Amino acid sequence: MSFLCDLPWIHLSVMPHGVTSICCEANHKNNKSHAVDQHNNLVPIHNNSVEDVVNSESYKQIREAMLAGRVPEACKGCHKIEKAGGVSKRLKDSSWKFDWKSRTAPDGSITPDIRALEIRLGNLCNLKCRSCNAESSSSWIPEYYKFKDQIPLASGYEWIKKKPEFTHAWTEDPDFYEKILNASPNLENIYISGGEPFLVPKHFDFIKRLRDSGNTDLHISYHTNLNYDIEKLRPHLDVLRDFRSVKLNLSIDDVGERNSYIRNPSNWDLTIKNLDYFHKQTDLEIEICQTVNVYNFMYIEELYKLIKDIPIYYNHVHAPAYQSAFVLDLDKRKQKLSEVKNIIPENLYNGLMQYNEIPSDPETVSLFTRYTKMLDQSRKENFEQIFPKTASSLGVANV
Ligand code: SF4
Repeated sequence: MSFLCDLPWIHLSVMPHGVTSICCEANHKNNKSHAVDQHNNLVPIHNNSVEDVVNSESYKQIREAMLAGRVPEACKGCHKIEKAGGVSKRLKDSSWKFDWKSRTAPDGSITPDIRALEIRLGNLCNLKCRSCNAESSSSWIPEYYKFKDQIPLASGYEWIKKKPEFTHAWTEDPDFYEKILNASPNLENIYISGGEPFLVPKHFDFIKRLRDSGNTDLHISYHTNLNYDIEKLRPHLDVLRDFRSVKLNLSIDDVGERNSYIRNPSNWDLTIKNLDYFHKQTDLEIEICQTVNVYNFMYIEELYKLIKDIPIYYNHVHAPAYQSAFVLDLDKRKQKLSEVKNIIPENLYNGLMQYNEIPSDPETVSLFTRYTKMLDQSRKENFEQIFPKTASSLGVANV
């Protein structure tokens, strides 16, 4: 049975430290999805051409496997979802309108033609969200070094810092954007996140060059945290308006001080003010991305009740496991699900049904307890005061 996917031919996904992946959903273990040479050495974008990356040994092998009807190791996740009857990223993102075989040399190499670009613009960020990490947020770095030997954190930041092939500096490098422009004559989609992408002004030069060259028949999508001075952003928003479509995925996890605790040190008034600006004073498409985690699950409907006129979708924390809602007592989760069934829309409710089974694991609950206490001390916060419902719903021992 054919297992062709468009992405290995058209997609470039650049991670915060400059290493690329065949796509964000692929299996990153043992470099299965990363661009590597025949000795399994990484081929990062910052010191290689787009052609070197696209025709790296691993990428060529993925294409060869697909053309031969095999499922590449990197893509087993999509295959598993499809076998279980689900809709994988392969099915969602492929149109199969090109004959990939005729565009591929016998060794799996191709002429670069990036149509879908995903760039995670380094780790510069003004927030240090509880479930984030130093690899994705520069604000996390001091606490990473403070706690890395005490608890398993969600990133190997120290390891990354030691390796010369990793760098976050590419986000400021004009050569990077030049390379991408040259390899993307038919660009259709750009997905940009961070860190906080609106704090990386260099990438706007790239967006402006696309606009000035008339390449505006594009869909651009951002993930952004709403905590910045909107005045500084206005000239860039004017440029963005010239593209076919722009969507902002706005990260808000809860209401008021609960949001500021999870997305520390975000300012709730500023969050709402900027949300209001994007909603009422621009014609950009907006959607709220609420990340479901251990802290906000017991309050999950409150954001929806507060902001009914802007669509919301859920993202779920799975790693580190001690930040996921599975930490909560199963009966309490079930009780919460029946409580919100007729309050939140069906699509959101269905996304929460995964929490309707699998009891909490005592070891994970204990990690959550230690982690929360450590960060509370460091940030001078108090979990029990801010999340009383969560504190009384933990799987085993309360904090
Ligand atoms: S098959 Fe799935 S994992 Fe593989 S490249 Fe396509 S979307 Fe990514």
